[in-house]
Amino acid sequence: MEAKSFQPYIVLILTMLMAALALAYTVDVKVTDEAGIKVALPDRVGAWTGYEMRFCQNPICRKEFSSDEFRDRNVCPACGNALDCMVIEEKEMLPPDTSILKKKYVHADGPTLYTSIVLSGKERASIHRPQVCLVGQGYEIVKSRVLDVPIDGRDPLDVMLLDLSRKSRTRSGETLDYTSFYAYWFVGKNRETPYHSQRMLWMGTDRIFHNVSHRWAYIAVAGARNDERRYQEQLTGFLHELYPQILLE
Ligand SMILES: [Zn+2]
Repeated sequence: MEAKSFQPYIVLILTMLMAALALAYTVDVKVTDEAGIKVALPDRVGAWTGYEMRFCQNPICRKEFSSDEFRDRNVCPACGNALDCMVIEEKEMLPPDTSILKKKYVHADGPTLYTSIVLSGKERASIHRPQVCLVGQGYEIVKSRVLDVPIDGRDPLDVMLLDLSRKSRTRSGETLDYTSFYAYWFVGKNRETPYHSQRMLWMGTDRIFHNVSHRWAYIAVAGARNDERRYQEQLTGFLHELYPQILLE
């Protein structure tokens, strides 16, 4: 009955952990407006050209457009309803002071890359664990690892890279497998990590020891995984060029 003798300690440790977490998230902290990044994406990243993405808010239309496809960034060219920086579901789910910017980057002879920046608002509930959302959307995570992206004049940037697969069935009963990737990292004031757990830990310690809660941002790049060998190289090249352009001066 070894396990039984440990039980009181486990209960005690869990209670203390819960109390510490409750304290961390309920005491009055100074919410600062400081972010570690600006919500802006350049129009050019190396050989890629960027176009802002906007989404129709009419639940029947739901079309998406890039900036080369609309004249007025607030009006849907298909139905005339409002265009917004996020899709309807995101708008319903995220706190209203969340900032989002999405751009697609087109390369003459490379894959199109979909890039987004999400900056949390005061409630700090804007950023979720990406894996949960992806699985909820029907993606299977085939592989995950941390990718080192060389950045001039500093240590490499660590980025979480997920290989995804989404299976669908055609009318004739054929199974199609759409293979793609999703790469992301989190940025806080003077902080960067590819791990959601590390971000949560920093949020907790910042509240407990420094009495502050900074605005965290989340940067993601997604694309198709057609060429298994080259897509990592292309992603690394893209991030190497993008990173210096989104830093705060
Ligand atoms: Zn529309």
